[in-house]
Amino acid sequence: MGRAFVYVILGGGVAAGYAALEFSRRGVGPGELCIISEETVAPYERPALSKGFLLPEAPARLPAFHTCVGANDERLTPDWYKEHGIELVLGTRVKSADVRRKTLITAMGETISYEVLIVATGARALKLEEFGVKGSDAVNVCYLRNLADASRLVNVMQSCNDGNAVVIGGGYIGMECAAALVTNRIKVTMVFPEAHCMARLFTPKIADFYEGQYESKGVNFIKGTVLTSFENDSEGKVTAVILKDGTRVPTDMVVVGIGIRANTALFDGQLAIEKGGIKVNGRMQTSNSSVYGVGDVAAFPVKLFGSDIRRLEHVDSARKTAKHAVAGIMAPEKTADFDYLPFFYSRVFSFSWQFYGDNVGQVIHYGDFLGGKFGAYWLDKGRIIGAFLEGGNREEYEAIAKVVKRKTTIKDVSEVERRGLDYALRSSQQVLPESSGMIVERPMCNWHAAAGVAVAISISAFAFWYGRRRRRW
Ligand SMILES: Cc1cc2nc3c(=O)[nH]c(=O)nc-3n(C[C@H](O)[C@H](O)[C@H](O)COP(=O)(O)OP(=O)(O)OC[C@H]3O[C@@H](n4cnc5c(N)ncnc54)[C@H](O)[C@@H]3O)c2cc1C
Repeated sequence: MGRAFVYVILGGGVAAGYAALEFSRRGVGPGELCIISEETVAPYERPALSKGFLLPEAPARLPAFHTCVGANDERLTPDWYKEHGIELVLGTRVKSADVRRKTLITAMGETISYEVLIVATGARALKLEEFGVKGSDAVNVCYLRNLADASRLVNVMQSCNDGNAVVIGGGYIGMECAAALVTNRIKVTMVFPEAHCMARLFTPKIADFYEGQYESKGVNFIKGTVLTSFENDSEGKVTAVILKDGTRVPTDMVVVGIGIRANTALFDGQLAIEKGGIKVNGRMQTSNSSVYGVGDVAAFPVKLFGSDIRRLEHVDSARKTAKHAVAGIMAPEKTADFDYLPFFYSRVFSFSWQFYGDNVGQVIHYGDFLGGKFGAYWLDKGRIIGAFLEGGNREEYEAIAKVVKRKTTIKDVSEVERRGLDYALRSSQQVLPESSGMIVERPMCNWHAAAGVAVAISISAFAFWYGRRRRRW
């Protein structure tokens, strides 16, 4: 039993959706393209799962957040794929790949062959068991990576109304889930080993601001320690978590967000692997010229960082690497090497931040940390290489993006400190001779803007729960 396609996308997440749209725009013919996904639904905007999906009132549900609404583009519903002759092979796990023979074998034993393969397998959530802690299969312990996890989390939350939750991990998932739990009237204790939240990105000063906001909403932080075991009742439900320092925290549910690992296993020993991902070149091509890698699974050269190989775990990079790979496949002679400005964002409660570039080197904080509009620049060898801003508007975010993309040279550090955000606003308006060919992409107006139209009621629910300070969707 077997099927053959010209193009196959392995994985049906964010990158797959954006790649499909690009293929269709570049004239892929009916029956030429197939997407194989373990998930049972067409590609969707995964960031929705820790935001709109967890709202207590009028939550976002599919089909509202199928890709590509996150880029204010078309919404690719299952019908869209049908109309465009793109085969969606859903609920199907690929269990092995042979890049020499150009074949994939599914868990059901079907062989699917390709001429060109895009690997878009993303990443999986790390399990507590990988750190020696047993029991994360209990009914009230939740992870969050896919729609099934999110639906389960909603059910567990609903059964814990006015109860307590422990969130393990202080990164993106931990912070966003903690905010959602509070919104669902659940008391939260966050536990993580680092000295402050979002340790991979935030400075202590930035983290202090957000931790203060969480604390004002009743969140309790236990830092510098890890979970070692669970206490369970006779039905196996977790009733308390035990920490390394001996602390016992009673709880009604647990959410675990302790990081992810790229899904490279199918290609180990077949493709070059670096930084935990499948190594690709500036056209997203792997060490096998018929295989491309995009999204969370791809480790690609970032020109801005001297072509250092990076693997990013963010939606903007998934969208853009996917688009770029398809351009490279369909129009190789017209496609230059990928020139990407790393961009991350998050939204919790009424707060909203964006970050561009790299967070290494000297940090300069600016703005009003009490009033909630502040940021930071990261300087390396006299140039701005990273910038963070909480509470900005579009013009301000574009300005910080631009000074990072230009790697603006700093003549006087004290001037940057003094002028803060205004430094980026002014400096980004300057026309530089070398910038004539440079295009700073608009920060993609995230999918929430479009999804918000479809789920307008959730805006008011959100405002009710969080207090509205600025646009959320
Ligand atoms: C809850 C949550 C919130 C997030 N919020 C943000 C945010 O606010 N901002 C931000 O920048 N980023 C955010 N991210 C990260 C962002 O969603 C990812 O960077 C993005 O989804 C990566 O896209 P991808 O297509 O590479 O992988 P994914 O979207 O993970 O898709 C991978 C797909 O491959 C499938 N797959 C894997 N292996 C196989 C196999 N063997 N056979 C068949 N199918 C397979 C999976 O089932 C899945 O459908 C969030 C992630 C999560 C989980």
